[in-house]
Amino acid sequence: MIGYAQPGHQSPMMNNSPRTFHAKAILVDGHWLPNARLGLDARGCLTQVQVDVPTREGDIRTSWLIPAMPNAHCHVFQRAMAGQAEFRSSDHDDFWSWRERMYALANGISPDELYDLACWTYADMQAKGYASVCEFHYLHRSGADGGNTTAMAEAVLAAADTVGMGLTLLPVLYRRAGFEADALEPHQRRFGLSVAEYLNLLDELGSRLRPGQRLGLCFHSLRAVSGQDMQQVLQATPADWPVHIHVAEQAAEVEQSQRLLGQRPVEWLLNHFEVSARWNLVHATHMTRAETRALAQSQAVAVLCPSTEANLGDGVFPLADYQAAGGRYAIGSDSNVELNPTRECQWLEYGQRLLHQRRVIAGSEHDIRPARDIHAGDSLWQAATRGGWQSTTGQVPAEGALGQVANWLELNEAHPLLNQARESQRLDRFVFAAPEAVKRVWLAGKCVAVAGEPLEAETYRQQGLTALASLKKRQLI
Ligand SMILES: [Zn+2]
Repeated sequence: MIGYAQPGHQSPMMNNSPRTFHAKAILVDGHWLPNARLGLDARGCLTQVQVDVPTREGDIRTSWLIPAMPNAHCHVFQRAMAGQAEFRSSDHDDFWSWRERMYALANGISPDELYDLACWTYADMQAKGYASVCEFHYLHRSGADGGNTTAMAEAVLAAADTVGMGLTLLPVLYRRAGFEADALEPHQRRFGLSVAEYLNLLDELGSRLRPGQRLGLCFHSLRAVSGQDMQQVLQATPADWPVHIHVAEQAAEVEQSQRLLGQRPVEWLLNHFEVSARWNLVHATHMTRAETRALAQSQAVAVLCPSTEANLGDGVFPLADYQAAGGRYAIGSDSNVELNPTRECQWLEYGQRLLHQRRVIAGSEHDIRPARDIHAGDSLWQAATRGGWQSTTGQVPAEGALGQVANWLELNEAHPLLNQARESQRLDRFVFAAPEAVKRVWLAGKCVAVAGEPLEAETYRQQGLTALASLKKRQLI
């Protein structure tokens, strides 16, 4: 498959000419820099910041700019079933019964359907404030014969390129049905690769990456991959790639791990691997205090997906203890029942408030500022953008904005709640009360969305319709 983009199509990730912005203010490392002139190079990276200067002719004028959010965990195909599993199918619906319904879609979706669905979903995500996505991709085999293992990944690469969404493609190693199994169930065969096939797939996909795209390593979970297989992959691949794994999402998984590995999943992972800043533990919901502290100290990122975790009834992440120990976190849209990063931040904070019967949990434990200067919206957005950068690249972000890709949300200064907010409360009002107040989305210095809609909204909506109609016709949704 050569690719899906139409002739003449130019991805927003492609190079453009150097340009200059003037922002009423830009948020950098927690500080609002007023009247800022911002120089960008041809790759859309920030080369110059001048503060307190007037606009000049040729500047692109903007209001308040904040960093756009990296999406650290996504299974884009699951958007097709968002809101479709909200009926009771037994006396005890849970994650495992939801998973059975998800498998029908996972096994049936074609590369063309995945491409259309991903274009529509990524474009919507972008318009709501996500700049890039870590795609946790396990739909490897295509066709009834279970052949070609690159067609589905190619559909994801092409869709992200068409939309101009930064992409960290995470091909998943998925080897067995559970801790005690030595093979996959028949309905999981599409996901399965040997270690040799997995390494070949990484090689093949490496040559297909477009600008703004990279690869990372991914192990489905300790249920699905043995320590030996993980070790083999880690030894055969670059030491600076990000590594992602689902872990401790479900209480049943923790119980099985204790019984069969002798330790809890996070505990086992920390004891058997050099878990460092390039590691991303997705969910990590069920941890003891000791595990929580040890994970925080490892400098790995806990990738939290609050709307999906709530939707699936997973549990509540121990955020207060984790941030007290200096833990890093990112957010992800996971099952894509929700595509808005502000909603993930809200869910994360509100889950904590309900659990602890207190307010303003995010940022309240390790911050050295006086209590009245600590703001939940501010803390959530900044921690998640920094953690998300780390999840996306495998690197710890440097302080400051210079050299970074200019992925920004421009807030709407005409929105009454933002217009009349004190500077210190601008992000709180955006995150908790006015998520719709995104005026424009700028990725690598190019405008991709206005007022919550992608620039080519109608095209993407049609693609979404085409994909869903086709899946519905085949009774996959
Ligand atoms: Zn997931």
